[in-house]
Amino acid sequence: MFKKVLIANRGEIALRIQRACRELGIKSVVVYSEADRDAKYVRLADEAVCIGPAPSAQSYLSMPAIIATAEVTDAEAIHPGYGFLSENADFAERVERSGFTFIGPSPESIRMMGDKVSAKQAMIRAGVPCVPGSEGALPEDPKEIIRIARTVGYPVIIKAAGGGGGRGMRVVHTEAALVHAVQTTRAEAGAAFGNPEVYMEKFLENPRHVEIQILADTYKNAVWLGERDCSMQRRHQKIIEEAPAPGIPRRTIEKVGDRCAAACKKMGYRGAGTFEFLYENGEFYFIEMNTRVQVEHPVTELVTGIDIVQQQIKIAAGEKLPFTQRQIEMRGHAIECRINAEDPVKFVPSPGRITMWHPPGGPGVRVDSHAYTNYFVPPNYDSMIGKIIVHGDTREQALARMRIALSETVVEGIQTNIPLHRELMADAKFIEGGTSIHYLEGWMAAHKR
Ligand code: ADP
Repeated sequence: MFKKVLIANRGEIALRIQRACRELGIKSVVVYSEADRDAKYVRLADEAVCIGPAPSAQSYLSMPAIIATAEVTDAEAIHPGYGFLSENADFAERVERSGFTFIGPSPESIRMMGDKVSAKQAMIRAGVPCVPGSEGALPEDPKEIIRIARTVGYPVIIKAAGGGGGRGMRVVHTEAALVHAVQTTRAEAGAAFGNPEVYMEKFLENPRHVEIQILADTYKNAVWLGERDCSMQRRHQKIIEEAPAPGIPRRTIEKVGDRCAAACKKMGYRGAGTFEFLYENGEFYFIEMNTRVQVEHPVTELVTGIDIVQQQIKIAAGEKLPFTQRQIEMRGHAIECRINAEDPVKFVPSPGRITMWHPPGGPGVRVDSHAYTNYFVPPNYDSMIGKIIVHGDTREQALARMRIALSETVVEGIQTNIPLHRELMADAKFIEGGTSIHYLEGWMAAHKR
């Protein structure tokens, strides 16, 4: 096992990784920007090194600064967390070339999944069900594009091969609008992602977002750890996640889960990963794979009892998965609410000093957060300041615990989306379960948000 791990991230995930290291008896080094000098994970770290000013490009995205820090602190491995450099294949490659272990998949796997066209082709080869669409990138010839769209059937969605974060997508309803939409998406994708390639998919009108968590070691063992329903989204940003997904037959999920684990074995994938699917009319359709730990990983940890971050570290250290698929048992129901520092009506970030932070507690309640009373939320990064995650024997109990947890939580000095979560936990349709990815935006429009 490693003696020392460098954490190349910030916020709640830096603290989460630090806790995993501590439990495994590993010392951790955190890197931080000038804006994060007073952060909790910096204060709690065994070692902390300031690597640059507030802008991410000069700190959390600076590969030379991070690798140099690993060198001077004698770290053996680097955990990238999520966001920042976590899905950057060049970074993984540079880490390994510099003689460190990258806690994540191989640079080749990251590269393949980072290009959505090659990811989809790999999934088709591995027998993972995908959204019907173009075979690979769209050709130049407008007539060919029109022909493909006719085969797929309208509406279609044009997506950038290099897209991410909900950007680089355009829905097309009619043939008249098609060619222009493809050209515009290409131009935008070229400018935003340095790759103008686009592909086409059938646009699913009212799907749910359901994803499968996997873990794979370097000995070709792979398991799936159940699913997460992340359909409660605003502008493609998830805000509530839960496990298991309400109302989907276990048999249907087992079939797709087994396919995902088999695909990992076939691809020689290692580490943690998530297969994201849209689910509509009883069918799963792969949309993309994330080659890192996800924000919402705790709901899976609570229902399986497996520490995903510790497993990532153990896999990177060359250990075998300590369980087989049959040994994985799912118990109860878990729900996560992401707490964002934002205006709950206008949805603009609300950075600033937290004058009062009182997190909830009690049975089945977990809070993953780097916030504390007097913490200054910097304006430079993502607005998420923590996550409240609850576990119960049933979904009803989990919902009740989340309502109590949210009612206990006090955050003063900045605005948060806690009032929104409180309303959603009392919403009849959400309580019923199984809402689509459009539900939250529709709810907001109806509530004049
Ligand atoms: P990103 O990497 O930018 O998150 P995804 O491929 O995961 O891109 O898609 C993001 C979101 O866009 C999905 O969660 C879904 O809301 C919507 N979306 C993507 N593909 C389709 C599709 N074929 N039909 C309907 N909605 C889609």
